[in-house]
Order: sequence, then structure tokens, then C-alpha cells
Amino acid sequence: MIIQRVVLNSRPGKNGVPVAENFRLEQSTIADTVQAGQVRVKTLYLSVDPYMRCRMNEDTGSDYLRPWQLSEVADGGGIGVVEESKHDNLAKGDFVTSFTWPWQTVAILDGSLLQKLVPQLVNGRLSYFLGAAGITGLTALLGIREKGHVAAGVNQTMVVSGAAGACGSLAGQIGRLEGCSRVVGIAGTDEKCSILVQEMGFDAAINYKKEDVAKQLRELCPGGVDVYFDNVGGDISDTVISQMNQNSHIILCGQISQYNKDVPYPPPLPPDIEKIQKERNITRERFLVLNYMDKQEASVLQLCQWIQEGKLKVRETVVEGLANIGAAFQSMMNGGNIGKQIVSVSK
Ligand code: NAP
Repeated sequence: MIIQRVVLNSRPGKNGVPVAENFRLEQSTIADTVQAGQVRVKTLYLSVDPYMRCRMNEDTGSDYLRPWQLSEVADGGGIGVVEESKHDNLAKGDFVTSFTWPWQTVAILDGSLLQKLVPQLVNGRLSYFLGAAGITGLTALLGIREKGHVAAGVNQTMVVSGAAGACGSLAGQIGRLEGCSRVVGIAGTDEKCSILVQEMGFDAAINYKKEDVAKQLRELCPGGVDVYFDNVGGDISDTVISQMNQNSHIILCGQISQYNKDVPYPPPLPPDIEKIQKERNITRERFLVLNYMDKQEASVLQLCQWIQEGKLKVRETVVEGLANIGAAFQSMMNGGNIGKQIVSVSK
């Protein structure tokens, strides 16, 4: 059977900025027959995520991330529909997902590596299983629960960097749902800041490209910062950490500002900021959502419940066509739109 697929065309270089041309669309073939235990799936949605930048390097710098190989098909979070099944628990028409979905229109996959999806849980918005009801939502929720020390009724202030991104936009809302009394976001455009406040219930948002972040934080967080959901690292994080309280907590979710640089993960803090962190006993433990998959099922149900109740506002940008996945990735790495970036694969 003839299919379309997207392969890694070239590496951007460890310190390079990735571009759409690092990927290549090509025609390929898959077997015509499905073996025992396998299913043939049609791809519906693919996720583009910042961690993929590390997979473009020969050495990803992480023991849990495999590098993509040149001229081989890329993969990541994906959703599809079963077209033919020789797996006992999967039937034609089932919607399924995997973290290692190949970037191709149709694939033959091992059925035991797929998770079945229940579209009703997200009011039929299947793509949410790649975002708010998938790994992104889990990252925000479990990051806060495992590393945030958030409690209701103790008047905590949370700051979120990368606040308009897929994780950040959920993290701020979940911080509030879990008990924070004040939530402030940091994002890169006025429009994103406005959506965070008007639509997603953040108390305030700072445009880091236009405003003096340190000054704004002093005004917007007069009692200091108790919880910092850190998606970006670098100068923004140094500024936030300088205003954190004694015994406060950093949720070390990601360091996207450092992903085009050849530095270890997590990047060490500058000496003066590290001194503040130590003196104020601020926790900054590594967080990896994949280490908490025993909590996946209950957490997804919680996220779906909030989505259905309208307590969690979800934004996503869906780009049409497998041919555009490289461009969608490039756009996401340059800030993208608010919320989750998804590619819809119709053929
Ligand atoms: P995303 O949707 O692409 O959002 C990232 C946001 O960061 C964007 O809204 C972007 O917009 C902002 N940004 C990009 N470059 C920046 C820079 N140099 N300085 C400041 N802000 C910048 O990504 P995501 O899926 O939410 O992921 C967010 C972070 O979580 C990433 O670091 C990712 O690796 C991490 N993550 C971690 C885990 C885990 O298990 N720990 C799991 C999933 C994701 P603006 O610049 O316009 O504000």
C-alpha cells in the first residue's frame, strides 16, 4: 500500500534554529497484510512539541529520548482510527493513541502499544487527547501536584512562564483550581496576554518582549512568588526566582529558551541565582511526566471532567496536512499561537 510519510531531512545542528526544511515529505509503502497482534491505522492527528527539538540532534542529551535518524520517519504523539485489526482488544473503528506514532498517513502498528480512546470524555474533540486531556494536561496537572506543593486556603501566588503555550495555559488554570489565590502569566505577545486574562482566568499577564518583567512582577506579586511553573528557563526564570519567597517551589517543567543551545538539562542556574535558590530553600527538582504514568488514568479523568464542566478552557491551533508538519513545528518553536499546536492528517 502506498502512503505518505515525513522523514528527518537534515539536522539543524546542536545550536541551530530548526526550520521546516529539516523535514521532508515523501511517498513510501507499507505491507498489504496485517500480522497477528497488529492493527492498520489511519492517522488523524499528530502533535508537535518542543522536546522534539532534542530528537533532531544526534545526541538528544536525555536518556529517555531517542534521536530521529536522517531519512527515517519521525514520530511523536498521535491519534488515529483502526482500519483493520488482528489484535484481540482492538476493532475496526476504534480511536487509538500512542506517544510514538509515526508521521505517516497510514501505518501498521503493534496493537499492544496503543491506548484506546473514549471520544465522549472530551465531547468528541479527539485532538484534545494530544493536549489538554493528554500528555500536555498531565504535565501541567502532575507537575503541580507532584512538585508545586499547592494547597487551598494558604494564599499562594503562582507565576507561569511560557504561559500561553500548551502546558502553560493549562498550568495557570490548574494552579487556580488546585488552590492558588493569584496566578500571573508571562508570554510573548499582547494578544496572548489578553487571552490569558480574559479567557483563562489569569489575574494578570506580562509581555516579556515589551515589558520590564522584574518591575511588573514586583507590582503584580506584592507578596512574592510561592510557586513558579517554569517552561522556559534562561533570563525570565532568573528574574522570577529572584522574587521567590522562602521555602517556595519551582516546577521544573521545561527550559524551551535553551533548546537550541548545547547545554546540559536542566541547565545550571547562574551563580547569583543559585545562591538565592539555596539561601531561600527554593526547591527545583527535575520533573518528568513519564515518571508518573501510574497516575495517568485518574488524572486524565480529572482533566476531562474539568473540560466538560468548562473549568478548563482549551485552545488549540490545528494545521491541515502532513505536508505542513515541518512548518507547524518551526512555528511552534518560534512561539506559535496560544495553546496546543496540532497537525490534522486527513489522507
Ligand atoms: P509550547 O506550546 O510550544 O509553548 C511554549 C511557549 O513558550 C510558547 O507559548 C512560547 O510563546 C514560549 N516561548 C518559546 N520560546 C521562548 C523563549 N525563548 N523565551 C520565553 N518563552 C518562549 O510548548 P509546551 O508543549 O507547552 O511545552 C512547554 C515546556 O514544557 C517545554 O519546555 C517542554 O519541553 C516542556 N514539557 C515538559 C514535560 C515534562 O515531562 N517535564 C512534558 C511536556 C512538555 P511566547 O514566546 O510567544 O510566549
